[in-house]
Amino acid sequence: MPLYEYAPVTPPGCALCCYGFELLQRLSDASLTHCSACGGAIQRVLGATGMVSGQAHVLKEKYVAERGFTQYRKIGKGLYEKTAGKGPDTISGD
Ligand SMILES: [Zn+2]
Repeated sequence: MPLYEYAPVTPPGCALCCYGFELLQRLSDASLTHCSACGGAIQRVLGATGMVSGQAHVLKEKYVAERGFTQYRKIGKGLYEKTAGKGPDTISGD
């Protein structure tokens, strides 16, 4: 099943839709038009993968943190920098 990304038509939206969210849907499923939490209008973000702007990337990390996940990115050999969530700012893979 393809993974679709949705975002509010008129930000800020609610806790669910404010940063956008992803939804697994069958190809035959109709796209959502309203957030199931706040009822606000949402739209499917087409081609989001690989076309994410810097700003959207930051929002994504906030979304990650709000869900209780911690995200790291690799900044060097065996070295990772935290980009979202709780935990040490950097971790070393050594
Ligand atoms: Zn909403």
